Formats: sequence, C-alpha cells, structure tokens
Amino acid sequence: MSTGPTHAMSGLLTWAAVTALASSHPIGQLEPETWIIGAVMCSGAALLPDLDHPQSTVSRTFGPVTQGLSNGVNALSGFVYRTTRTKRDPKRDGGHRGLTHTLVFALVVTVLTTAVVQTSQHWALPAVMFFFSGLAVRGLMHEWHPKRDALLITVVSFILTVLCLRWIDRGDDMQAAAMGIAVGLGCVAHYLGDAITEQGCPMLWPVPIGGKTWYPVAPPKPMRMQTGGKVEMTIIGPGLTVLAIWLSAAALQQAGALPFLFGVSLLPWR
Ligand SMILES: [Zn+2]
Repeated sequence: MSTGPTHAMSGLLTWAAVTALASSHPIGQLEPETWIIGAVMCSGAALLPDLDHPQSTVSRTFGPVTQGLSNGVNALSGFVYRTTRTKRDPKRDGGHRGLTHTLVFALVVTVLTTAVVQTSQHWALPAVMFFFSGLAVRGLMHEWHPKRDALLITVVSFILTVLCLRWIDRGDDMQAAAMGIAVGLGCVAHYLGDAITEQGCPMLWPVPIGGKTWYPVAPPKPMRMQTGGKVEMTIIGPGLTVLAIWLSAAALQQAGALPFLFGVSLLPWR
C-alpha cells in the first residue's frame, strides 16, 4: 500500500491523463462541471480497494459505517481468496489485497456506479459523490486523526458534494457512464500504486500465471519502492502532483474552462 496522498494523487492523475489525451472519445469531451466531479470520484476511488483492510485509515473514513463495511468486504475477500487459490498461492487469509485489488472488481464497480447513477440522478449521484469525496478527503488529509476526525471528514465531504452538485447539470447517460469510468480508473490507479511496492498486486485474478491465480503483479525488485519511504515522498509523490496539475489544467482547457489562456495550448503537441 502506498500512502493516502500518493494514492489519491495517482487517481487524479489517471483521470486527468485519460480525459486530456482521449480528446476524440466522449470521455475527453465532458462539461467542465462533470469533469471536476469525475476528478473527485476518481481520486476517492483510488483509495477504495483498501476498504478490504479493517485497520486501514480509509476504513475509518465515515467511522463505524465504513468500519462495518470494511469488515464485510474483508470477510468476502478472504472467502474468495481461499476458495479460488491454487496450491502455489501462499496460505494467507487473503482478506487484504484480494478481491478488491483485481481488474474484475474495477470492472464491477464501473458498471455498478454507472447503473446506480443512472437510476436516479437526484439522489444516487449525490450519494455516490458524497461517499467518494469522503475517501478523497481521507486520502489527502492523511494527518487527520483516523478516529477523531471521522465527523470532520463527513462534514467536509457533505459540503464538497453540495457545492459540486449545485452547479452541475444533471441528466444525461454519458454523465453516469463518466462517473462509472472515473471510479474504475481510480481502482486501476490504486493497483499500479500497490504493484510498485514490495508485495505486488494480484490484479489479473483469476488468470493463472505460473500456476497462481493470485499472482502478485510487480515490476522487477529494484524498481519497487518502500511505502512512505524516501523515493515515494521525494520523487513519486511530488512528481505525480506536478503531472496531475498539468494534465488537469489541460483537460479543463479542452473542456473550454480556461479561456484566459488565449489559445496557448497546455498540450504542446496539439
Ligand atoms: Zn491496496
């Protein structure tokens, strides 16, 4: 697991990169308001997979509510691990870094989020937005106390949700699909972040690799970093932040939100 801010920032960067670079696809042609809500959702979703760890900070986001959810997710994840592991997969309990750390899970939450937001944009979009902005705030504000500040996080997420939804034009199906894609991309960003730490990430489950269905995908050892170590704090974290700010500005410019740049393109090759 990388630290919360690194995960959240990797979510923002992934959303910004996909929307800025896919300019000919509908996901690269969102309204600025939808883009911003997608950015919050994607940053929050980049923390979602660690809900499978009841002791993780993200599981304390909304106090006992997410704590209970986390216990449930951990039990389900452990069950799926034990029933689908091969003899070569290690005998661990499998609750953490299991089901929620797979591309199958990312696909399921993409479809589910799209479907939920489509059912009722009047209550479902605010509810989904509130949940993911909570995760985003929790991830970024890693110095806030996990237990004491759950109420503060709830209040900040509520205000963020109200502010965002006041000026968004709710309605079309593309918007619901964009929210689903944002959540799926956030999960994928998390897997990549986990893969470059020591233990790797079993994102390709249930595809058997080397006889393992839970094969931990990771780059060669020298390219992996230590969680919260020097490389993450001085190179990866700041690097992700700079890239995320640049590509977010480029995506917003593409959406027509930065007219004061007088035609100076933030993507020089365009
Ligand atoms: Zn993780």
